[in-house]
Amino acid sequence: MHKLLLRQLKRSALSDLLEAHPRFLESVSDAYTQHEDEIRFIEHSLFVVSNELNEQNALLSRQVHELSQANAQISRSEAELTAILDATGEAIISFDCNGELSLLNRQGKNFISQLQADMIFEEQLLLICKNPTELEETFEAIRKDPFINVNGLIEFKRRRYYEFYSSPKVVDGQLQGRVWSFKDVSSQKITDDIIRFQALHDSLTGLPNRNCLNQLLEKQLRFHNFHLMKLAVLFIDLSGLKKINDTQGFEVGDAILIDSVHRIMLRLRDKDIIARFGGDDLIAILRDIPSNDWVMSVCKNIERDISQPIEFSNHLYFISCHIGVSIYPEDGEAVGDLVRRADLAKYHGFNHDVAIQFFSFSIAEEEMRRQTVESQLRKAIENLELTLYLQPKVDLKSGAIKGSEGLIRWVKPDGSIIPPGVFIPIAENTGMIRDIGRLVVHEACKILANWERLGITETTISVNLSIADFNDGALVGDIIGELERFNVSPSRLILEVTESLFMANKDLVRNAMLQLESQGIKFALDDFGTGYSSLSYLQELPFSYLKIDRSFLIGVLQDAKKSAIAQTIIDIGKNLNLALVAEGIEDAETLEFVRGKTDNCALVQGFYFYRPMPHADLTELLLKHIS
Ligand code: C2E
Ligand code: CA
Ligand code: CA
Repeated sequence: MHKLLLRQLKRSALSDLLEAHPRFLESVSDAYTQHEDEIRFIEHSLFVVSNELNEQNALLSRQVHELSQANAQISRSEAELTAILDATGEAIISFDCNGELSLLNRQGKNFISQLQADMIFEEQLLLICKNPTELEETFEAIRKDPFINVNGLIEFKRRRYYEFYSSPKVVDGQLQGRVWSFKDVSSQKITDDIIRFQALHDSLTGLPNRNCLNQLLEKQLRFHNFHLMKLAVLFIDLSGLKKINDTQGFEVGDAILIDSVHRIMLRLRDKDIIARFGGDDLIAILRDIPSNDWVMSVCKNIERDISQPIEFSNHLYFISCHIGVSIYPEDGEAVGDLVRRADLAKYHGFNHDVAIQFFSFSIAEEEMRRQTVESQLRKAIENLELTLYLQPKVDLKSGAIKGSEGLIRWVKPDGSIIPPGVFIPIAENTGMIRDIGRLVVHEACKILANWERLGITETTISVNLSIADFNDGALVGDIIGELERFNVSPSRLILEVTESLFMANKDLVRNAMLQLESQGIKFALDDFGTGYSSLSYLQELPFSYLKIDRSFLIGVLQDAKKSAIAQTIIDIGKNLNLALVAEGIEDAETLEFVRGKTDNCALVQGFYFYRPMPHADLTELLLKHIS
């Protein structure tokens, strides 16, 4: 029986009912037990549910916590990403597959603000950049393969330059869009451009320098080759600039160089090129030339313009130029060949006193020969292979040998003799002439001293000096030194100079001549009438003798012009009170011509009397005359 039922029956004093209605109470007891079991079950169930709920709750709150942590992390990462993207200094712009903007950093916003919002990004870029072709190629490449990375340089107006990179956005092999980054490299590009310009241009004139010229010419040669066109390379050497630099300073020299460049430019067409090769050497490239004659006329114009006096700070300056020309393709097909050959032509012109010289292969050969002579001559001077021959000068009236002219000979070890006409011009252009000048004066003084000892006291020796000798400040001292060294009277030395001397610095020449003259040395003007004859110079400079050049006397009887020139020179000599020397007397008729024109009053020199001979031979001859 259920305990609670028993207690209730007892408390109600109904315990008798147990016996009276046992079965009834039995079933009530069962109902009590069943009810109790049900309550217990429900209680238990409730307990279980509440436990589960608690667990779920804990899980949920954990998840909420985690989520909020993740959220915070995401916001931090986002902030960090934005900061990083902003800090790159580059404009970063990300698009989805539809071309819609998906991400922008701060610079990206600025960059985009240059574009029009209502247009497709790519089209906008093409519209405002200055190099759309290159960019179009990049876009085309992306269209062909959307997965490629690309990069390049884009130039906007007003010298804005951006370096760009672009990569695809790919997730699990799926294309999600594309990211572009643009870096503003304008200032770096401008600096680079300046550095590149400076590396390729001459700072004084702003012209392309030698490096740049090579590149430009290379390009032009390819172009001319493709279009079957001709091109001319002009090697322009400005003469006289060095002297101006030396005497007036670089400021004046620089100004004159710049002025000269401008003059040349005025004679060139827009499509032609001018560059500074170095120093006072300029190179002009004439493109697509119609003919060589046309090139010649351009050169003549340049040459004429350069020779015009240049005014600077109230002074007039004179310079000149030599131009060597090579033509593509006939004179060469490579940059180096064309420049070298134009230079060689210029050099050849310089040596032959020709202002404008076109290259030819025969010139090249001649220059090669000249270079061989040059190197051999250097050795010959060292090895004492140069010796002075003497050619007597005869007094017309008495027939006596009054003087002699020293003429240099190069006697090679094998006995062959090279005449001065071959090597003197080379020596003059290389500075070796000074060594020859010293040698000749030395030899002449030595011979005169020997003659003195032998009692030959009346005969003079004339030596030939070049303009280069006068440009050397040591000349006067050298000559006086040699005379003193050999104890020779200065009156026995005559110096023969040519009119080319008149082209040198007049004051320098005059001073040197006056100093030497004051010592008793006399001067003869040689080759008068063959060069830049100037009567005023003839008067101003202390000449004692005037030589009629052999070119006017050889064949004078058959040539009325020569005869007239000879007559004029003789008249000038007489009027200026100069003693006349006629050289190149090869026959009796010429001798009689000179005799007639000079009233028998001249010195004569020529093969008719004597050829130039070793000094020992002349010594012997003179000794015979004395005895
Ligand atoms: P130049 O001073 O006019 O010398 C006279 C030249 O005429 C010499 O030639 C001489 O040999 C030549 N000659 C003399 N008589 C006759 C003649 O009857 N017929 C012909 N056809 N020629 C005659 P060379 O010795 O060959 O000298 C040539 C030039 O070389 C000289 O011309 C002179 O300008 C230069 N030269 C010679 N020796 C020297 C030197 O020591 N120093 C310098 N700077 N130049 C020199
Ligand atoms: Ca002479
Ligand atoms: Ca002469």
